[in-house]
Amino acid sequence: METNYWQIDQQQVGQSQAIEQAAALLQQQQVVAFPTETVYGLGADATSKQAVDKIFQAKGRPADNPLIVHIANREQIKEYVTSIPAHAEKLIEAFMPGPLTVILEHNGTIAKNVTAGLSTVGIRMPDHPVARRLIEVSGLPLAAPSANQSGKPSPTTAKHVYDDLNGRVAGIVDGGPTGVGVESTVLDCTQDIPVILRPGGITKEELEEVLGTVMLDPALAKTGDKPRAPGMKYTHYEPEAPLWLVKGDAAFFQAKIDQYREQGYKVGVMVSKELATQLQAETIKVCGSQADLTQVAVQLYDTLRAFKISDVDIILCESFPEQGVGQAVMNRLTKASSRIVRN
Ligand code: AMP
Ligand code: MG
Repeated sequence: METNYWQIDQQQVGQSQAIEQAAALLQQQQVVAFPTETVYGLGADATSKQAVDKIFQAKGRPADNPLIVHIANREQIKEYVTSIPAHAEKLIEAFMPGPLTVILEHNGTIAKNVTAGLSTVGIRMPDHPVARRLIEVSGLPLAAPSANQSGKPSPTTAKHVYDDLNGRVAGIVDGGPTGVGVESTVLDCTQDIPVILRPGGITKEELEEVLGTVMLDPALAKTGDKPRAPGMKYTHYEPEAPLWLVKGDAAFFQAKIDQYREQGYKVGVMVSKELATQLQAETIKVCGSQADLTQVAVQLYDTLRAFKISDVDIILCESFPEQGVGQAVMNRLTKASSRIVRN
């Protein structure tokens, strides 16, 4: 398949021919990748089973992993759900548009393969001018997972999307690098006390400021439990080389670099700029600062993608504090890793 590629200036979305063309493809049941404030999404008409099937095919995504429905204004939500509980109303008011997905009981309007046959649907309103304009002009709710090949790190630039999906999708709208860098927080709002099924761009602390108590799906803490967000059980975010997550100080980190190098591994290192100054290794990639986890989130997937199997056999990665957006960062790094190296 020939993939259309459009570059868009975010300031000019109102006059963009590219948006019109991309929207027309979506109306013809094709799939198109577009930027959001979190990561790039791969969109299709969420009311069409046939269109949504193409998302699963292009990504190689397991069919039991449901998709999030993207809308352009808050009013649209009630078209797809049975009711909006009071706590969900508060969240919609506070965090939409933004990196929050609310899980509500659906009313059957959305295609069944979007929700993987569940009684609920995840809905979010992206805070990105290109995404919102594309949804508006298409006149469709857009089912959109991250626009990567299933299992790989999510895309934060159009180049990442191109590398994974060129020839497999009808179009890619390039609106520059995304802002937040990690995906939306997925929050189950079908219970009295909302439950975070996937940590993301809106932090637990931010949610609790609005709602009081919010719970974390216990499966997020324990590896043995079956997670309730179906997608959380698959391998995800994997770079080309195995990633080992290191839990320990700089001296321990250096000892491990030396040990694996002696064992014959070409060792790559992914760390904050603070730790980087204390380590000696052949390949060191910096993913932000310990003092600013927001920046680590922004750079996370691009840094994971920058390690090439031709250069490194393993990647040793720093562990970050699980506070604020650090919770989402550590969730992704833990899922990306095949081993924990600790004292
Ligand atoms: P992605 O589209 O790659 O950002 O992943 C979407 C995430 O939201 C996956 O972890 C899904 O399992 C989760 N999700 C989507 N819809 C639902 C739902 N109705 N109930 C629970 N989790 C959901
Ligand atoms: Mg994804």
